[in-house]
Amino acid sequence: HLRRLLPISTRLPTPEDTQAVGRRLGAQLRAGDLLILTGDLGAGKTTFTQGLGEGLGVRGPITSPTFVIARVHPSVAGGPALVHVDAYRLGDAAELDDLDLDTDLDEAVTVVEWGAGLAETLSADRLELALTRAADDVRTLTITPIGARWADAPLATLG
Ligand code: ADP
Ligand code: MG
Repeated sequence: HLRRLLPISTRLPTPEDTQAVGRRLGAQLRAGDLLILTGDLGAGKTTFTQGLGEGLGVRGPITSPTFVIARVHPSVAGGPALVHVDAYRLGDAAELDDLDLDTDLDEAVTVVEWGAGLAETLSADRLELALTRAADDVRTLTITPIGARWADAPLATLG
């Protein structure tokens, strides 16, 4: 069965804080992991993914994949590549499979911006990450781990 674990929330006053939490999470990730990012335009999804890429040790620069829909960042250190997707203009997950990326998602870490309601079918085990923005520009990141993959992951150290 699918285990939905306790969500973790963390307060991110600056873009550097958002990148830093991404970096710490990136260092814990492995091939086949799926992250689904939600949050309004400007919430910090791409900023977070930049830190994640650093933590994973992939080739940058990481910029918004809005126009290309998906970009593959190969690992510098021999670990998994980062597949960075903007699902805003995708109709369904099948279109994601059809993108014909030159990497297998099982061998990469996949991050899908605007992926809620679409990317869940890619993997039962996933992290759902929601970024919200308060009037003072402070962001709050809430991470909801789903599935056995995350049962013993040290995610609490991120908060
Ligand atoms: P999204 O991908 O969600 O549309 P971006 O990461 O592209 O958002 O943009 C977020 C913008 O907000 C950046 O210009 C960033 O510098 C700014 N910003 C201000 N405060 C924060 C914060 N605490 N975390 C992330 N971004 C922030
Ligand atoms: Mg973005």
